[in-house]
Amino acid sequence: MQSLTEFAEAKLAEMDDASLRRRVVDSDRDGEGGLWITRGGRRLLSFSCNDYLNLAHDPRVKAAAVAATERYGVGAAASRLVTGNHPLYTALEQKLAALKGTEAACVFGSGYLANAGIIPTFVGPKDLVVVDELAHACIWAGAKLSGATLRIFRHNDVDHAAQVLATYRPRHGRALLVTDGVFSMDGDLAPLPALASLCEQHDTWLMTDDAHGIGVLAQGRGSSFAFGDKPLVPLQMGTLSKAVGGYGGYLCASQAVIDLVKTRARTLIYSTGLPPATVAGAIASLDIIQGDPDLCALPVAKARRFTALLNLPAAESPIVPIVLGGAEVTLQAQRLLEDEGLLVTAIRPPTVPAGTARLRVTFTARTPNAEIERLADLIRDRVLPLNGVERPE
Ligand code: PMP
Repeated sequence: MQSLTEFAEAKLAEMDDASLRRRVVDSDRDGEGGLWITRGGRRLLSFSCNDYLNLAHDPRVKAAAVAATERYGVGAAASRLVTGNHPLYTALEQKLAALKGTEAACVFGSGYLANAGIIPTFVGPKDLVVVDELAHACIWAGAKLSGATLRIFRHNDVDHAAQVLATYRPRHGRALLVTDGVFSMDGDLAPLPALASLCEQHDTWLMTDDAHGIGVLAQGRGSSFAFGDKPLVPLQMGTLSKAVGGYGGYLCASQAVIDLVKTRARTLIYSTGLPPATVAGAIASLDIIQGDPDLCALPVAKARRFTALLNLPAAESPIVPIVLGGAEVTLQAQRLLEDEGLLVTAIRPPTVPAGTARLRVTFTARTPNAEIERLADLIRDRVLPLNGVERPE
């Protein structure tokens, strides 16, 4: 067998050859709402962050985090089930439940941990879990950890999901269908009303991952409410790391469901509670989200400004993909935009399917309109021609 180091070197060389190696790069930021990132001495305007409402740098949120550190310390010091459940958790869970219109909520260490803990709480080896093919990596992680039979349906294809359920549902005890509410690399929404009625028809529970919906869709309430006020989704999972500006995951659901999660989800039980500052920051952010629907509407409005400039279908969320196809051309496009002072990260397989490498463009409440126009011009005039992709008329 190769030595560990030889193995790693060979793998890295393989990835370099295919333009698929990923790197962690220092990204410093200044006080201007986190919009500007400094890399290698260059100051770049970021079209790549998920802090859609710029709350990570909001003075009210920072003040709440500082005060909580002073009062409760830097770390939770234990699992929430031992002594890590500092009193701020209750306030945060009540606010999340109120925003999502559920009886209760449970906060996890991160969105990834939430999905890895929630799915195995509800389905196991005799059960079925059905997942959209473009679902986020941590949904797959949770589905695999559950030991349930995993079946995939084509992206947002309700008819295919119906076929999958018709074939496999009768062979299993319990069944769960999981989808992103907003797809993280495509920015489109799941057809939740149709999926909800399909699930009802096939005696299947529906779960959404609303990581990119909370704070920015339906006055901040998220993707489940983008189709009206009727509650559609009994398991609404999400993260506090995007529009909420901090860190942590959550599930909003009925009281009994949350009570079960708190006694069974292994990623909650066997992992330390969030730092008090993080929980306090999230509470302050949610107060801002609930009190300022105009702010919540801005990221999607900015994304729509961009899609209109490029004659693309109107953005449904703050995320707009510019699919270029090859990994190398996408990296080239990223470098070209960096030379113009704009940071738009190349997303390559395996994060997205092979042949669909893309620039993932995201918009925040404070992204300047003039820069949106400049980016659209650069994409039309210099990025799309790199690939021979047709220029939008
Ligand atoms: N779900 C989706 C759809 C996401 O985009 C992300 C973040 N990349 C996560 C879950 C994971 O959330 P967190 O960063 O809080 O672990």
